[in-house]
Amino acid sequence: MHNFIKIPAEVAMQNETRPTQRVSPLAMDSGQFRALGVQLIDRIASFLDTLPQLPVTRGESPSAVRQALFAERSLPLQGTDPAALLDNAADLLLHHSLFNGHPRFWGYITSSAAPIGALGELLASAVNPNVGAWQLSPMASEIEAQTIRWIAEMLGYPMDCGGLFVSGGNMANFVCFLAARQAKAGPDVRTQGVAGMRLRVYCSKETHTWIQKAADIAGLGTDAIRWIATDDAMQMDVVALRNQIVKDREAGDRPIMVVGTAGSVSTGIVDPLPELAALCREFDLWFHVDGAYGGMAAALPDAPSAFAGLREADSVAVDPHKWLYAPLDAGCVLVRDVGRLRDAFSYHPPYYHFGVEAINYFDIGPENSRSFRALKVWLALQLVGREGYVRMISDDMRLARALFERMVEYPELEPLTQSLSITTFRFVPADLRAGSEAVDTYLNQLNLELLTRLQNSGEVFLSNAVVKGKYALRVCIVNFRTSLADIEALLSIVLRVGKELDHSLRPANLRAANYG
Ligand SMILES: *Cc1c(COP(=O)(O)O)cnc(C)c1O
Repeated sequence: MHNFIKIPAEVAMQNETRPTQRVSPLAMDSGQFRALGVQLIDRIASFLDTLPQLPVTRGESPSAVRQALFAERSLPLQGTDPAALLDNAADLLLHHSLFNGHPRFWGYITSSAAPIGALGELLASAVNPNVGAWQLSPMASEIEAQTIRWIAEMLGYPMDCGGLFVSGGNMANFVCFLAARQAKAGPDVRTQGVAGMRLRVYCSKETHTWIQKAADIAGLGTDAIRWIATDDAMQMDVVALRNQIVKDREAGDRPIMVVGTAGSVSTGIVDPLPELAALCREFDLWFHVDGAYGGMAAALPDAPSAFAGLREADSVAVDPHKWLYAPLDAGCVLVRDVGRLRDAFSYHPPYYHFGVEAINYFDIGPENSRSFRALKVWLALQLVGREGYVRMISDDMRLARALFERMVEYPELEPLTQSLSITTFRFVPADLRAGSEAVDTYLNQLNLELLTRLQNSGEVFLSNAVVKGKYALRVCIVNFRTSLADIEALLSIVLRVGKELDHSLRPANLRAANYG
């Protein structure tokens, strides 16, 4: 084995037929790798060029997609030509995907991915550092640490915080949740579990579903979540929060953490973070901010004032695959005191011996072997700098506001909410007045159908929200390719499709002859 490894490349190539030489079917010589790579990059470049002319999605059925793939065929026994294989993979993906990089994709919270991120991923996977341990990834570990510091810097968070990359916002929030549990429930919680502890966590009703998964995974159970009411502005009601904490303490429960959201998933609302921070100090609770979507808006010089409390949080989750436009996936954990992460995650088994005075990421998070997620983020941050990001994030917000403001010109469009880069609205036929039960029910049905029709059309891609009982269309712009022309196109598309649908869907009792 040792002899084999020590054979220099030139000798190994001459001796390919010697039985001690290994000819591996996965190996690829540099000439072939280069040719395939050039071809693939060329194809991707053309795809990016034509992206605005492509449908956002073809809205195909699962069976059509499976058919294109020949999903039922069995695994080939023998290998195949790599050029044909890559070409086929590109055909499948380019003809049967939803393109979140399309300028008219505004669904859920998924961003357009920066092309430099794709190149970064290629480089990361070619070098393939295992960023679980410093010794296995010296430069990659340091690049990850630097990227974490830069993200903290953009957020105005202490730059000596601890942090790491994980797969996304859910995972980042889970990691912070476990850090909070360990910090507030005490060191025995890791050996003895939470049985009988009656730990309680607090968040607004607008909080993303990660909180349920986290409470479940961390052993608290979802009944440990106290869903605090929101006020008229849909922010967490701080008085209701205080009352619940006091009540729970009196009942013998143990409040451990408050979760504030900086950019709620449906409407982009930012909780009153400074007030939440003060309350957490008063009651000695862990203060976590879920900034998966909106956190990066804290970097704006004119960030909404509610963001001011973010820098006081014990932990923050942000998603570089949202407002830093990184290709999936990249979530980011920041914890004020890195020791808290170590307390929550570290074990020292005998088979790990990394005697290096540097950060070993397996020690401060749940993952063991880890990919080099930081590289794509690190590259994009430097490609455009802080100013570039401030501009792109503000442009996204400005476009979402423009959409909201333009709606006053159209009697059929009812603007509902606008915060950060999320705007919600609905289509209301000009001759219908909301208020009666029959009309309200019809409007919900009409807008649901409208959303389905728009999503399948490939012209634009929106998602939905329910705003105070109203079924709403929701536009979330985390897309550096969107321009004002796309927003204007959206208005006319919604009007056109909304009118068509209303014509075919409206029940007889709501038609003009019977109405009013
Ligand atoms: C997107 C989002 C999450 C979940 O993040 P993923 O990256 O999808 O795992 C959690 N919280 C908020 C507020 C989000 O916007």
